[in-house]
Formats: sequence, structure tokens, C-alpha cells
Amino acid sequence: MKKQKVLIDGNRLSRTLEEFADFGRTENNGVTRLALSEEDRKVRDYFCSCCKELGMTIQVDDMGNIYATLAGREKIPPIVMGSHMDTVKKGGRFDGILGVAAGLEVVRTLVENNIQPKIPIMIVNFTNEEGARFEPSMMSSGVLSGKFEKSLMLQKTDNEGTSFENALHAIGYAGDESARLKEATAFLELHIEQGPILERESLTVGVVECVLGMVCYEIEVTGESDHAGTTPMDMRKDAFFTANSLILDARQKLAGLHDELVFTMGRVNVFPNIHTVIPNKVVFSLEARHKDANVIKQVEEIIAGLATTKGIDGCTVQVKKLWDRNTVWFDESICDLLEQSTLSLGLPYKRMVSGAGHDAQFIASYIPTAMIFVPSVNGKSHCEEELTTWEDCEKGANILLETVLTMQST
Ligand SMILES: [Zn+2]
Repeated sequence: MKKQKVLIDGNRLSRTLEEFADFGRTENNGVTRLALSEEDRKVRDYFCSCCKELGMTIQVDDMGNIYATLAGREKIPPIVMGSHMDTVKKGGRFDGILGVAAGLEVVRTLVENNIQPKIPIMIVNFTNEEGARFEPSMMSSGVLSGKFEKSLMLQKTDNEGTSFENALHAIGYAGDESARLKEATAFLELHIEQGPILERESLTVGVVECVLGMVCYEIEVTGESDHAGTTPMDMRKDAFFTANSLILDARQKLAGLHDELVFTMGRVNVFPNIHTVIPNKVVFSLEARHKDANVIKQVEEIIAGLATTKGIDGCTVQVKKLWDRNTVWFDESICDLLEQSTLSLGLPYKRMVSGAGHDAQFIASYIPTAMIFVPSVNGKSHCEEELTTWEDCEKGANILLETVLTMQST
């Protein structure tokens, strides 16, 4: 006879998520809990007290990352679950915190079922994932992975001029470098999708294979300013009309490249931006994301070719690459494990990519890592309407539990 599966308590998980949302809950049932704020201190204290109740030990490193560990029967690097507890201003109740609360629920389930794991279980909270108060985002996982330099990050300031270092000390979470996460059997990050794909396809789970690589360019068009009333149309060097031709051309070519390519021209500045003056300069951004480096290469060729677009009208076009980042592929065998857990729970799922950045993409550089997505209602995130149903939160946590249990027995 097949053994009854151990499952998490969905009601307890939803209660916990609501308790966490009380730290910074907004009028419209969202959350404002900026990194290292008073709300962040309170939610950290509460999280630590929940973990201590379960007999877990707490460690805090020099970036304020919190690690709660449930001892294992053997001295093996832990299985780590978690995400971040900070939010953007007027963010939601699920982004980040779901991964932490679900980790807590998994440990609660183990403890209440008297399961002492062979491999230690750790829950992590990464400091300042959002970068909403101190840029850049994913700051502390970035320091752990060597992507960012600690001394530079400590000096970052918020709008009021408070440094990250001072804010970290002020809330009492400046720990020791020796506590940093160095090795682990696996890192599993459960997160809301923050997009509309799972919902559109009536799926419950996304097994995330990678975080998309991207390129970001700035395109500058230079023309000439003249009087808007006295200059005949065929004598103008209108930078805005030229930019318009470039944008149309780029849109057409990029759209034909690959159906999964996403691209955005999110920032446009027109100079001098006066209605009686022909624009002499337009600067706009063009960023594109795709998992396949070859597709990104083709994107770059298209961008480089923009200067030869028809309709330049005597203007000059300069293309400048601002930055790029490669696709981060998650660990194959961890993805397979998460997929098996999903299948064994009978949940509809697909393999997918993440268009957004997550702590997992940095941790993946030195620990076998993968992510699980659960659906975002209407795809909304980073806003107060952000919603993931309690049922989907519960399912996501059960995948974590199932995966942790499977890893214990192999
Ligand atoms: Zn997040």
C-alpha cells in the first residue's frame, strides 16, 4: 500500500502570510516594507521568533541575510529554501515573502510530524532584494556570489542620505561575515510568477529553468532645431521623426526574430521639448530579453543596423550599449526533482523562464539552484493588487516539502 503523503497546512500558511503582511500593510491591502526599515526590523524579529519556536538556530551575516537552520541527523550542507522579505513601495503581500513563509511552513510540517531530517534544512531571507530603497536590486545575494563588492554596497544611500551600513546597524541586523551561506546541497526559491503566463494557460506551477539574459542600449538621434513655423518640411532635420522611423523599424525586425523575445523602449527624451521648436535630439532606451544567446546576438545586429534605416532625414544616429547580462541556467537535476514533485502531486505545470531577476540567479553561481513559480492573478505584481490564491500558495509549499523529503531519502 502506498504511504500517505505528508502535506503542509494550507490554512496555517495563509495565516502566516497575513501575519507577515501586517508588518507594513497599506490601506489598500498591499505592503510597504522597504529594506532595513522599521517594518523590515519587525518582520525579521517575528520571523526569527517563529523559527526559534521550532528549535531552529539563527545566524545573521554581514549583509543582514538571515539563516535559520533545523539541524539534520548528519553533517551535510543544508537544503536551503527562502527568498526575501523586503517589498517595493506599495507592493504586494506575496512577492518574496511567499518563499520565506513557505519554507517556514515546510519546517513546521516536519517538526509536527516528528520528522528529523537527515540533511539540515535552512530558511534564508536575503536583504534588499528589491533595491527599492538602496540600489542595486538583489544586493546581498549579489555580495554572497561575488557579483557585487561589499564595501561599495555598504556605502549605498537611500533618498534621505542614510547609508545601507548605518541602516543595517540601526535595525540591529549587522552580523558576521563568517555566517555567510557558503555551501548547500540545494537552494529552492518559491516565488510568484509576477506575469500572466501560468494563469493564461490554466497551469498551477512553473518549473523555472533560467533567468533571461538581456541587453540594454541607448540610441541617440541628432538633428537640428529650427523654427516650427518657418522651416519647410523638406528642409528639416527632425530628430523625433527620425527616432520614430527607427522605432518602427526596430519593432518590426525584432518582432520577427523569435516569438519568445521581449523588448521594450521604456525611456524616451525629446529635446528641447518645446512645441514651437523642431526637436534636435532624441534619446531612447531599447532593452531586449531572451534565453538564447544567439537570439540576443541577432538583436544586437539589428540595433547596430538601425543607423541605415530609411527616413533618417539627414540626422545622425548613435548606438551605445549600456550593459548586458547572460542567461542564468538553473541546475538540471534540481529542476528535474521539482518537476517530479509537481507530477507526484498531480499539478498542471510547465517548464518556463523568468523574465524578472531573482536572488536565485546569483546563488546559482555556486549552489545547485532552481525556482518554482505559482500564478499571479491578472499577472499583477509590485502593486497593491498583487494576488496569488491561497490554494496556489499551498500547492507551491507542498512542492517544496515533497522535494525536501525526496532529497532526504536519496
Ligand atoms: Zn521577489
